[in-house]
Amino acid sequence: MAEPNTGTAGRVCRRCLLEELGQGDYLESVRRYRARLPEKERTPDDVYESRLASCRECGELVNATCNLCGCYVEIRAARRSSACPATPPRWSSVR
Ligand code: SF4
Repeated sequence: MAEPNTGTAGRVCRRCLLEELGQGDYLESVRRYRARLPEKERTPDDVYESRLASCRECGELVNATCNLCGCYVEIRAARRSSACPATPPRWSSVR
């Protein structure tokens, strides 16, 4: 059986984002990715935070990754056009 993914602290972190996992380099690259998205593609700050709050409350979040799609949620939430893959979705795309 494969070992579960762990954060830098060596533990499985359910309901944690990269921010809480202490993966500084990767977190910084996620922030740069979001900052470089054109404004028309980038999720507004308040919606982004709301999406991440939903992920934090979701049982599918493990080690900052969504179990349903395999994405880091901080990346998936960064684009306006993205939506939560759950049925029904916990958050939706925005215009
Ligand atoms: S199912 Fe949706 S709310 Fe849950 S972790 Fe994945 S993207 Fe976030």
